[in-house]
Amino acid sequence: MPTEDRKDPAAPAVRFERVTKRFGDHTVLDGLDLEVGRGERVTLIGPSGSGKTTILRLLMTLERVTDGLVLVDGQPYSHMPRGAGGKLVPADERHLAVLRRRIGMVFQQFNLFPHMSVLENVVEAPVHVLGEGREEARRRARDLLDLVGLGDKAEARPTRLSGGQQQRVAIARALAMRPEILLLDEVTSALDPELVAEVLDVLRDIARNTDITLLCVTHEMGFARDVSDRILMFDRGRIVESGPAGELLESPTHARTRAFLGSVR
Ligand code: ADP
Repeated sequence: MPTEDRKDPAAPAVRFERVTKRFGDHTVLDGLDLEVGRGERVTLIGPSGSGKTTILRLLMTLERVTDGLVLVDGQPYSHMPRGAGGKLVPADERHLAVLRRRIGMVFQQFNLFPHMSVLENVVEAPVHVLGEGREEARRRARDLLDLVGLGDKAEARPTRLSGGQQQRVAIARALAMRPEILLLDEVTSALDPELVAEVLDVLRDIARNTDITLLCVTHEMGFARDVSDRILMFDRGRIVESGPAGELLESPTHARTRAFLGSVR
């Protein structure tokens, strides 16, 4: 049976079960349990080095767990559940690729292809990865560029755009892959302060007008409050506090959350 047919509609979009990630003897995630419901918007906050980006990188299969299990749509991702021998078995690559395609990511660095037009940057992956027809992909790319407010820049080279505009192209490019889950990793950190708002406004619109599952890492607390159903405060690879966005930001209970919020406001 094709993998797509096994999608469990009741399963959370993402589930981490006792996930540990070590780099050498440095434990970055320490038996982490985490669940993100379908259509839920979750923001990860916490000091630098607390493991937030590693979570997103595991979901992009840029890293593999040291121990524990990651599930996407209820299906083992990266590794299979432990067999009787207790050893982690890597998931089948084809199966992984199917799940992996449901996830898109926007990075701090936009990494657009400089030799291609803005439009071609958005068209590239749907054509080459999803096998969409070029005309259909171009039509959708134009719609997505309109959505991010760059309909008039379709033929421009990315290098002629501001950082904020380039990041909006990167958002359109991620959406062109029709992801069900979108990961946002400090998408405004590389931008000049005056360009931050235009990017966050586009993301607010997307959050408001789609049912996409969002997992964000950001230091923009106003944005986190606007888009998130839930905020998770990380410290040293563990969740120290979690709660509805307004509640956690207004009345944090953990001393580390209070200290962290004090440092970013
Ligand atoms: P955050 O996103 O919260 O700032 P990260 O997940 O980026 O934290 O990093 C957590 C820790 O993992 C940091 O101490 C970082 O140096 C370390 N780390 C991340 N990636 C690697 C890697 N590829 N090799 C070694 N250490 C890494």
